[in-house]
Amino acid sequence: PGKDKRLGIALVGLGGYSGGQLAPALQETKNCYLAGIVTGTPSKADSWSKKYNIPGKNIYNYNNFDSIADNPDIDIVYVVLPISMHKEFTIRAAQAGKHVICEKPMALNAGECAEMIAACKKANRMLSIGYRLHFEPHNIEMMRLGQKEIYGKVTSIDTGNGFTYRGDPNAWRLKKALAGGGGLMDMGVYSIQGSRYSLGKEPLFVKATEEKTNHELFREVDETVFWELEFPGGILAKGKSSYNNNWGYLKVKAEKGTFGLEPAFGYGGIRGNSPAGEMNFPQINQQAFQMDDFARCILQKKPTRVPGEEGMRDMKVIDAIYRSIASGKRERI
Ligand code: NDP
Repeated sequence: PGKDKRLGIALVGLGGYSGGQLAPALQETKNCYLAGIVTGTPSKADSWSKKYNIPGKNIYNYNNFDSIADNPDIDIVYVVLPISMHKEFTIRAAQAGKHVICEKPMALNAGECAEMIAACKKANRMLSIGYRLHFEPHNIEMMRLGQKEIYGKVTSIDTGNGFTYRGDPNAWRLKKALAGGGGLMDMGVYSIQGSRYSLGKEPLFVKATEEKTNHELFREVDETVFWELEFPGGILAKGKSSYNNNWGYLKVKAEKGTFGLEPAFGYGGIRGNSPAGEMNFPQINQQAFQMDDFARCILQKKPTRVPGEEGMRDMKVIDAIYRSIASGKRERI
């Protein structure tokens, strides 16, 4: 389709993920394109405008953002801000009449997710979460193997995700008010997702503990968290997240064999094994597939596979993990 038939996306928050992944992916998409930007940094407005040929009328800041309602070039607002800002900008975008993609984790807690879902529903706009791995072939294979019980019933899951934080000690990721938490919010969400989509069921209870070695850097947020999710039928999923360990795997044990991915959750280089041998799927541009799929869903009026409800399910688990760390007890999700 010609450019005029593609949906226009405005990225909100021009940080690492917007600049490093989403804007480049939007050069490859077929159903949508980078039509606008929303930024609090005037120098980025200039450089992005030149680099991506974005007209001045499609450039907004956080104050005048609501006037995007009057801009027919923008169909979708993509919220790529610190987590504490997800709720506000998702709701403002919906109220401006735009469909919304919101980055993970969806919000500070499940209560905020419910407000976001309600606001989009009220505005009759679609909401999706930036869960790129739902479009990634190896992860899709995990869903198939587990949910369709290709190797029999799943009996247990083991997963971890984390990286060694070497960034700015003053960054929003380490501030509780902006990030809500640390490695669990940022990285653990992938492991929780992975457990849920490998099984196709929702966990009922969780027991969790926290470990902290660097009390200075991780003063406000969790460093390493361990949890055990209890799914229906007594199936256990062990998980861990960290800002101080390089982890990234998803392993599933089923009655007739084990299958898994490592690395499991990155932008590329994902590898997997099953009893049938090494998985042999293409590495794709996950972000391009994700955004094209959402645009197609809007154009064809079909539900997205990663709606706000999917983000909220993970937030309920995260909320319960934090409750369990605080209480020292097994908590209902
Ligand atoms: P960055 O810190 O790199 O960028 C965040 C941007 O938000 C800033 O550059 C800034 O943009 C804007 N911003 C507005 N207010 C603030 C504030 N008070 N403090 C800091 N930044 C502010 O973050 P990321 O791009 O890494 O992450 C953004 C979101 O994307 C998060 O939700 C994160 O979890 C998610 N993410 C998802 C990934 C995925 O694979 N799905 C990968 C990486 C991140 P400006 O200057 O334009 O105003």
